[in-house]
Amino acid sequence: MHLLVAAAIALLAAGPSGLGGGPVAEAKEAAGGKSKKKKAPQYECRPQSPQKFLKRRTFVQKGMLNPKKHAKAVRYLAEHYGHVDTEETRRYNPESAHAQATTVRFMGLPLSIHEKVAPALHCVEKRIRATCNSKSRRYTPRAVGGFRTANSYRGAEISNHLFGTAIDIDPERNPCCGCVDPWPTSPLCHEKKRTAYERTALSRCWIKAFERYGFDWLGHDDLEDTMHFEFLGDPDRFKKR
Ligand SMILES: [Zn+2]
Repeated sequence: MHLLVAAAIALLAAGPSGLGGGPVAEAKEAAGGKSKKKKAPQYECRPQSPQKFLKRRTFVQKGMLNPKKHAKAVRYLAEHYGHVDTEETRRYNPESAHAQATTVRFMGLPLSIHEKVAPALHCVEKRIRATCNSKSRRYTPRAVGGFRTANSYRGAEISNHLFGTAIDIDPERNPCCGCVDPWPTSPLCHEKKRTAYERTALSRCWIKAFERYGFDWLGHDDLEDTMHFEFLGDPDRFKKR
């Protein structure tokens, strides 16, 4: 917990970088919109897709983990975000992922995530605020979760929450029907819904906003983890050129 506070203080000391969200931060779209605010952000909102080799469904198929493909993804994540207290990830990076945690506000709610993912999340928020306003597109989150220090997967798989690259939105309203308890007990999992889109309270507009900036929605995965988005893009793509 104290690491987190230290990271938050360090961020404040570094000055207004626009990661906190709200009207102060005005990131420019890649299309070349003019920023009227004086404080220029340190990043730009360039759309990108999640990298395929990092998607859970490329290394876990029908419940079977492909060790080689999984190791490749873990190596990338450790190299880019830090180790997660395992021997394997320490080999790739001596710095801890959790030491790079920062607290941001996402849609008005505090959230602890990896500092490298903060620009991506800010771009998502900006997109949501610009495009998801009509009644059918709107969604108001009540609880969000990011960094975790305990692994929620059984076996060798590592949750991206440990790297600080994943975010959960309202588990009660957006169930994970393929997860371990308590989520499969959600009545939403037992109703005869055809797709994950019908099980989640999130609007497609929200899901698309995340996907636009390199997040993968685990509603597409076997897990049907509809509360969960993970950033699988290239964090450097948001750097100002
Ligand atoms: Zn999650």
